[in-house]
Amino acid sequence: LPLNLNVNSLTELASAAQQIIDHAKDQRIFLFYGDMGAGKTTFIKSLCEGLGVTESVTSPTFSIVNEYRGANATVYHFDFYRLKSQSEAFDMGYEEYFYSDAYCFIEWPEKIADLLPDHYLRVNIKTVSTSAREIIAEHV
Ligand code: ATP
Ligand code: MG
Repeated sequence: LPLNLNVNSLTELASAAQQIIDHAKDQRIFLFYGDMGAGKTTFIKSLCEGLGVTESVTSPTFSIVNEYRGANATVYHFDFYRLKSQSEAFDMGYEEYFYSDAYCFIEWPEKIADLLPDHYLRVNIKTVSTSAREIIAEHV
């Protein structure tokens, strides 16, 4: 059953993040869907904070993936927006990350449509208003 959360402001993201981490159970691969500016990176920052990451969380710009070490977990944060072809993901060894024990938070998974794992948590973020979002998480 999908988890459907209505977030009315940035301050409510922390609680939403905790609920989604709980909902994910053992699933550590999260795929984020949503338009540009929907809040994927912003929500990933909250998820990382919930996992005890203290370093700054920003979208990887010069690389495809950022690695964060949290108190209780390692996080790999991918942004495939600038990927030119799926072979680039293949060349960076994406599978090593996906099949590790770490959390993998993936922005723009549409860019690696043929390389997606069989199972993951699908997180959809929809813009409701300037500060409100609907966040839906569902196991695939
Ligand atoms: P891109 O596809 O370009 O990577 P994105 O989905 O990662 O975009 P963000 O970079 O996170 O989007 O930008 C979301 C913007 O919306 C930020 O400026 C953030 O402060 C703002 N925002 C306002 N309210 C919320 C909210 N409730 N949740 C998430 N972001 C919000
Ligand atoms: Mg982003």
